[in-house]
Amino acid sequence: MHQPLTLKINEIFPSIQGEGLRLGEPTLFIRLSECNLKCDFCDTKYAWKTGQEMTVESILKKIQKIHTAFPTEWVCLTGGEPLFQNIGRLVERLKAENFKIQVETNATIFRQLSVDWYTISPKPPDYFYQPEYVKKAKEVKIVVTKGLDLGILEKLRQDFPEKIPLLLQPRSNSKSSGKHALELIKQALSKGMNNVRLTAQIHKFFGWR
Ligand code: SF4
Repeated sequence: MHQPLTLKINEIFPSIQGEGLRLGEPTLFIRLSECNLKCDFCDTKYAWKTGQEMTVESILKKIQKIHTAFPTEWVCLTGGEPLFQNIGRLVERLKAENFKIQVETNATIFRQLSVDWYTISPKPPDYFYQPEYVKKAKEVKIVVTKGLDLGILEKLRQDFPEKIPLLLQPRSNSKSSGKHALELIKQALSKGMNNVRLTAQIHKFFGWR
């Protein structure tokens, strides 16, 4: 498969994973530019266009430099949509350096990669995802928008194994979205649906990236 000479990178930084099941774990983030969707609620619109072309080796160098002061084993590839670009060589190089890799994806694109942890986040209106993720996702994260309803959750719950949580993430930690999430969790419980849970973006509470 064609491997690009450079990848467009929006930012590389150390932080704490603020969402989902890996919440709280020190993580090195590589935010890739561009996305194939244009969600109106996107909180990383700044990554749609802006970024710097970097070679895989220069990305590695930057990661290794940060890693000396922040020696965590986890790297999270996020975006934008990290799979919009061919990140095969970057993943190979990170694995060769013994990093564990998380990919946060909208799941509309699948690439055969050596990834340890897929966080998938299907998006409205159709919540489409590539079927490979049914076996590969470790968690399904759903932003709680106004149109999210029980029918959508029921479909996802049927599609994914019960051990994989459906994590409802209130939009921008807002009160109204939190209320909607709670209502959906009650409805899911009353229908006997298991493993439908709440998550929040704790990095935003602390003003972290
Ligand atoms: S898929 Fe994610 S990064 Fe892309 S526009 Fe939607 S929220 Fe933003």
